[in-house]
Amino acid sequence: MADRVAAAAAPPVRSARLTGWGRIAPSTAQLAEPAAPAQVAALLKDAPAGRGAIARGLGRSYNNAAQNGGGLVIGTSQMNQIISLDASTGLAVCEAGVSLEQLMVAGLPGGWFVPVSPGTRQVTVGGAIAADVHGKNHHRAGSFASHVPWFDLLLPDGAERRVTPATEPGLFWATAGGMGLTGVLLRAGVQLIRVETSRLKVDTVRTGDIDETMAYLSATDDRYGYTVAWTDCLARGGKLGRSVITSGDFAAVSDLTPWDQRDPLVFRRGGRLGAPPVFPNGLLNRTTVGLANEVWYRKAPPRLDAQIQTIGQFFHPLDGIRNWNRVYGPGGFRQYQFVVPFGQDQVVRRALERISAARAPSFVTVLKRFGPADPGPLSFPLAGWTLALDFPARTPGLDGLLDQLDAAVTDAGGRVYLAKDSRVRPEVLAQMYPRLAEFRALRAELDPAGVLASDLSRRLGL
Ligand SMILES: Cc1cc2nc3c(=O)[nH]c(=O)nc-3n(C[C@H](O)[C@H](O)[C@H](O)COP(=O)(O)OP(=O)(O)OC[C@H]3O[C@@H](n4cnc5c(N)ncnc54)[C@H](O)[C@@H]3O)c2cc1C
Repeated sequence: MADRVAAAAAPPVRSARLTGWGRIAPSTAQLAEPAAPAQVAALLKDAPAGRGAIARGLGRSYNNAAQNGGGLVIGTSQMNQIISLDASTGLAVCEAGVSLEQLMVAGLPGGWFVPVSPGTRQVTVGGAIAADVHGKNHHRAGSFASHVPWFDLLLPDGAERRVTPATEPGLFWATAGGMGLTGVLLRAGVQLIRVETSRLKVDTVRTGDIDETMAYLSATDDRYGYTVAWTDCLARGGKLGRSVITSGDFAAVSDLTPWDQRDPLVFRRGGRLGAPPVFPNGLLNRTTVGLANEVWYRKAPPRLDAQIQTIGQFFHPLDGIRNWNRVYGPGGFRQYQFVVPFGQDQVVRRALERISAARAPSFVTVLKRFGPADPGPLSFPLAGWTLALDFPARTPGLDGLLDQLDAAVTDAGGRVYLAKDSRVRPEVLAQMYPRLAEFRALRAELDPAGVLASDLSRRLGL
């Protein structure tokens, strides 16, 4: 069903220099922050010819998916109301600019938690659907869009559509992972999950090498709702791929101390330390990251069972430091995340060999097993191994190294994640996402005038 949204006066726009979380590739756009769908419609109607418009949430994608140099960027910070939260079913209805943290604050007192959380809770519902984000529970719960029963989408021609996976599967799944290029999400239903407490019961295991890491994850995945390995990307030889694996589930009230049982669903946003604004380029280098990895690995216990952790400790440790992306200095950093199907385990091993041999220092390296893919043509996860890394952008030889990894990933039937990508070549992307042509055809039909565009879509011809 489509309704044309009555045009209203467009909100003010201002010039803004924007980057993604990795702080590379800045571009200057006109930024508007509408408070109502009618204002979004007015903005789309007047989007600059040839440059178009793109939605932006909290700017936590790593590169330029939410940028539009020379065009318009529609920020959703004023569309951030939770419209309703049904205490008996856990269905939240919210505007697209609502953050996952807002949903936690609203849901936890009644025993409801977000179905999927990425490594930061400072992302919007719109951004979570547009990138079809995944979390530590992908092997059990799939990605974010599979917990969204419907959304309201403002199409490039100004019509508003209520889209569900049953009524319009093509448009629903093209939007999930479609990086904002099918329309502007206005509102969505999000099905929250039941939890008894706001704490997790976590088992930690330290593994000695990549074989042990992969064997442990394969053997234990089905025992835990949430699991992930932090991997030492600089370890070599017999220590290649040594990791600290944390796996857990939400705790029951009876797992908590009597003190904590008094308020089992308490959730504190927590004070966040700010990273100083000026960090020298090169503070994170192969020596400092090597040392940090060594300390991190050694401080982890060889085995620790049933440790109680808060949501922040378990899901979002980096959120504890506001603007932690500044530790990479003004040069910024490149995230690189790939997935390869099960059976292609050697690609992960070989990638770690190449990275450690090149001494390319990734500060946060995470290995995980994904469950089955969503039907979206551009949704990233597929059943297999995913490895996420972040490198200081000025690491010598980084581009060549990542091109080599792309080639190995493509040969193995894998792909890289668009919410993090900053450098994959368009022809390589088309091999990684064989249904890209389907996505482009849908866009051509929905948006013949090219109203929606981003720096990412121009670079990759999406
Ligand atoms: C510390 C950290 C950890 C992370 N961990 C993970 C992880 O574990 N798993 C994971 O999947 N991702 C992870 N990410 C990436 C992040 O979850 C995604 O990039 C997410 O899309 C960011 O949401 P946002 O609201 O900041 O959106 P933005 O970055 O502002 O935008 C991202 C995309 O969504 C589109 N978009 C935003 N709002 C709308 C809207 N209303 N309508 C249409 N399109 C819209 C934009 O056009 C853009 O293409 C992480 C990021 C950080 C910084």
